Amino acid sequence: MAASLVVIVVALLVGVTVVAVKFLGPQQLAAVTASSSPSASSPASAPATPTPSATSVPSPTLTPTPAGFNKTQFSIDDPNSIWVVVNKLRPLADGADFVPPNLVDLPVDMPNPNGYQLRGDAEQALATMFDAAKSEIGTQLVAQSGYRDYSVQVKAYNYYVNLDGVAGADQTSARPGFSEHQTGLAMDILDTTSGCSTDGLCFANTDAGRWLAANAYRFGYILRYPADKTAVTGYEYEPWHFRYVGVDLATEMHNTGVETLEEFFGLPPAPDYAG
Ligand SMILES: [Zn+2]
Repeated sequence: MAASLVVIVVALLVGVTVVAVKFLGPQQLAAVTASSSPSASSPASAPATPTPSATSVPSPTLTPTPAGFNKTQFSIDDPNSIWVVVNKLRPLADGADFVPPNLVDLPVDMPNPNGYQLRGDAEQALATMFDAAKSEIGTQLVAQSGYRDYSVQVKAYNYYVNLDGVAGADQTSARPGFSEHQTGLAMDILDTTSGCSTDGLCFANTDAGRWLAANAYRFGYILRYPADKTAVTGYEYEPWHFRYVGVDLATEMHNTGVETLEEFFGLPPAPDYAG
């Protein structure tokens, strides 16, 4: 009963509206339309009064975005990315088969006793850095160890396991599929004069080691395993191991004083393998 009454009342009201509209002239009808729907665009014949919609639409904000560093500019997961973060909790995706793009030989005038390669972008930056070291401190740097494929890393890791056991090897050599050297973006750097090797901390106290630690960022490289960061990176201090990440990221890390990729990207510390 109540429902049918409502229907009748609505029908009557609609009828009244239709009748009212029928009695309006075209100009009056335009005015009714404009006032009843504020967001509708005014018809061409409407008077030149300001449209109500002009005040109700918020104007786009022109406040400039702070020139913050874009941490999502490149992937940290894709092994092809120059920002890829590889550590004991972050193996290379498809590690046993991954081969980085654009591997190139190092320049012939660069000391490279083991004939290693690097990715092209990392190689060019390395050559520029070696030239700068020569002109700024008079030292000839040496490209001691660069791109290592999966099978080479198997041999390297097993060598250290035989020498030091698994626990000892895990402190100094990455397990296969977990090595930054497989990205083609890492280089172990020594010099021709100090006689230091990639064992111990000898290289840290050389002119070359100090110069690299202070200046590598200018060329897009970072000291990947700094002193006192073993709990974060999972590796002891390696004053010879430099990782190419590009000038933008290396400079941002230098300017903000953040030493590791894990800390910079807010990743969990990776002191050890998950299993
Ligand atoms: Zn290394």
